[in-house]
Amino acid sequence: MDHFEYRHGSLHAEGVPVEEIAAMVKTPFYCYSTATITRHFNLFGEALSGVDHLVCYAMKAASNQAILKTLADLGAGMDVVSAGEYSRAVAAGVPAGRIVFSGVGKTREEMRVALEGRIRQFNLESEPEMHALNEVALGLGVRAPVAIRVNPDVDAETHSKIATGRKRDKFGIPISRARDVYREAASLPGIDVVGIDVHIGSQLTDLAPYRFAYKKVAELAATLRSDGHDIRRLDLGGGLGIPYGRSNDLPPLPIEYGRLVKETVGHLDCEIEIEPGRLVVGNAGILVSSVIYVKSGEDREFLILDAAMNDLIRPAMYDAYHDIVPVRESPSEEALARYDIAGPVCESSDMFARDRKIARVAQGDLLAFRSAGAYGAVMASEYNTRPLVPEVLVKGDQFAIIRERPAIDEMIKRDTIPVWL
Ligand SMILES: *Cc1c(COP(=O)(O)O)cnc(C)c1O
Repeated sequence: MDHFEYRHGSLHAEGVPVEEIAAMVKTPFYCYSTATITRHFNLFGEALSGVDHLVCYAMKAASNQAILKTLADLGAGMDVVSAGEYSRAVAAGVPAGRIVFSGVGKTREEMRVALEGRIRQFNLESEPEMHALNEVALGLGVRAPVAIRVNPDVDAETHSKIATGRKRDKFGIPISRARDVYREAASLPGIDVVGIDVHIGSQLTDLAPYRFAYKKVAELAATLRSDGHDIRRLDLGGGLGIPYGRSNDLPPLPIEYGRLVKETVGHLDCEIEIEPGRLVVGNAGILVSSVIYVKSGEDREFLILDAAMNDLIRPAMYDAYHDIVPVRESPSEEALARYDIAGPVCESSDMFARDRKIARVAQGDLLAFRSAGAYGAVMASEYNTRPLVPEVLVKGDQFAIIRERPAIDEMIKRDTIPVWL
C-alpha cells in the first residue's frame, strides 16, 4: 500500500497534486511519500514485536539525507556499505551504535572511520578482511565488534544480478568453513565476535529460501556456541520483495516474514538485526517524467520521455518492470494505446517498456513510474551530461525539494583542464 492516488482525476502524492510539483520542479524528478516510508518501516517493528531487534535500513536503496532523517526519527538503525554511506547516516542523526557496516570490500580507511565513530558492528565477508580489521582496530587501541557473513548456498530464486547467497556469488564465507573462521576470529585480539550475518539476495518473493537459510544459521549459532563463542546477535539481512505491479504472485508480507524469523531463530534468544532496503522505500517513490515526443515507427508507436536510463537504470540493468501511469487519470478503457516507452539516451537499452498498454498520451503529458523509490535516484548517473534527477519529499500537503537539479554549468565546472592544455 502506498500514498500515491488519483484525486479528482489527478495523481496525488499524499495531499499534493503531482502536477503542482512538476510545475515547480520541472521533469524528470523523483517524489517520495513520507507516510509510505513511515508505514513500511513500522511494519518491520510490528513483525518483530516481542523479539529484541533492530531494523537497520539498508540505505543503499535510497540515501537522501531527508529520507534518512525521516527514518532516524523513527528509531531506525542503518546498514551501510561504504564510508560515504556511514558519514551520510551519521550526518542524518543516526547514532553510530545503530549502524552496521556491510560490503565485500571495506578498505582500511573505511574501517578506521567507522571504528573511530564507535560503530555498532562490522559484517565481515572474508578472512583477509578480518585480518585487516584486526590490525586497524589494534592500531586504534579498540576491539571491532563483528558478525561474519556466511553464505548458506541457497538460490534465492530472484534475478541473477541480485542473488547473493549461492556458492558462486562473491559474498560471505562458505557456511561449511564457518567454524574454522570463527575460531580464527576468536584468536585475534582486535576482533570481538558478536554474531552471525546472512543476506541471500534482493527482491525475494517467496519465504522458502529464507527458511532454508535461517535454519542453517540457527544450527550454526548452536554449534558456534558449543565451540565457546558468545553469539548474541543475528543479522538476517534484507531482501524482502515488493509488488512491482505485474505479476499475481505477491511477495510475502513483513508480518509473515517476522513469523518465520521467530520460528527459525527465535529460540536462540539473540538480538535480531534485519536490513530491509527496498521494502521500506520502493513503493514510497515515483519518478515523474514528461512525454517529449510521440514517434511512429514502422509497426509501433514510441513514447520518447525526458527521463532516461541514467535516471532509472533498473529496466536496463535488471529487466525490471515498473508500472507507468498517466498523471492525469485516463477517462476510459477505450482510450488505451500500446507504446514502446524509451528515454532519449543513445543506447538501445534505454528502453523502459515494450508494447506497454497505457492511456493514450500526447506530447507534454506527464507520466509516473511507480515503485521507483528503491535503487532509483541512488543509481542515477550523469551519462549524456544529463543532470542528476532532483528529489522531492512530500508530507501531508507539504512538499520540499530535497535535492536540487544541478545546473549544467556546475557540472562542467567539476572538470579541470590540465596545465598543458
Ligand atoms: C542490498 C542489501 C540489503 C538490502 O536489500 P533489499 O533487497 O533492498 O532489502 C541488505 N543487506 C545487504 C548486505 C545488502 O547488500
